[in-house]
Amino acid sequence: MKRIYNFNSGPAVLPVEVLEEASRGVLELGRSGVSILEIGHRGKDYEAIHQDARDRLLRLMNLSELDYEVLFLGGGASMQFAMVPLNFLSSDRTAEYLHTGEWSGKAMAEARKFGGVRVAGSSEADRFDRLPMEWKFSPDAAYVHITTNNTIEGTQWKDTPEVPAGVAYFADASSDILGVERDYSRFDLIYAGAQKNLGPAGVTVVVLKKSLLPKIPSTIPSIWSYAVHSKAGALYNTPPVFAVYVMGLNLKWLESQGGVSEVVQRNSRKAALVYEALDAFPGVYEPTVKVKEHRSAMNITFRLLDTNREADFLSGAQALGMDGLKGHRSVGGFRASLYNAFPEEGAQVLADYLRRFAGR
Ligand SMILES: *Cc1c(COP(=O)(O)O)cnc(C)c1O
Repeated sequence: MKRIYNFNSGPAVLPVEVLEEASRGVLELGRSGVSILEIGHRGKDYEAIHQDARDRLLRLMNLSELDYEVLFLGGGASMQFAMVPLNFLSSDRTAEYLHTGEWSGKAMAEARKFGGVRVAGSSEADRFDRLPMEWKFSPDAAYVHITTNNTIEGTQWKDTPEVPAGVAYFADASSDILGVERDYSRFDLIYAGAQKNLGPAGVTVVVLKKSLLPKIPSTIPSIWSYAVHSKAGALYNTPPVFAVYVMGLNLKWLESQGGVSEVVQRNSRKAALVYEALDAFPGVYEPTVKVKEHRSAMNITFRLLDTNREADFLSGAQALGMDGLKGHRSVGGFRASLYNAFPEEGAQVLADYLRRFAGR
């Protein structure tokens, strides 16, 4: 099989080793005589898989199981847009959101169905071509919500703003979880759809402080209550067994590579290769993010000044085995997603192509 360079924003590239082990597991899980697709979620095989994925995730996030609960849920990060306010917002309170792109907009729209929402900082007036330059939080906010990496617009918080003491701090980290150096202990709740940087589609991780759980009203439907999931040992109902299994394999791979710090260095090198090539030809390429420090290392967004050459650019890239480079329809242009599993070699191939294409 000839692998393409897969620049897709999600579902996204996974390491070959992970795919190989997963495919073996589809035929037979260890020496169990059954496929991973056939095992019960209450049996000891799955229990070990679940615990292993959970332990690795906490270890890689540098969080303690004494403080944090880990849930593997369905519904995508989009379900968390609603589940977060359902659990932690009410009509007499206000949550504060940093509005940095399409995903934060969707998160706010859901929260408004449950209570007050205040935009604490926004770059909407700049069409999200940067992060907000200022923000203000109030000490009585129900919580503060941030999107750590804006997958569509290509911005990323390197340092996240401070919130007032006592205010719960929630993060949608879908597209950069374990892909940057981040102090996750500053957050009370972190959620991420797995299909960008953690594993396959189908599972969403929610890591939340156990101290939040008693505050959750018992009146909300059980399936959407973090407290109910936690009380049921994170196995309230059937979890996405296969997705959790593959995510666990991918976390094992990440540890085998030297962990987050090693992969983050790799990610910086990959991003630098591509940004340097773009910046070398300001008459040809326009990176869509206007403040260099706000550029994402995970999703690199850019346009061609001559839009007539777009189709040509894409077909040339495809001929070299590169795929998934088309930008999100709301931003246009191109997007190169360079998640943890994306090989350095592929970033070099893109950078070389950018230089050659510009020279033509
Ligand atoms: C992809 C993405 C989402 C939506 O994820 P789904 O799992 O498709 O619901 C939410 N937030 C961010 C930052 C994303 O990148």
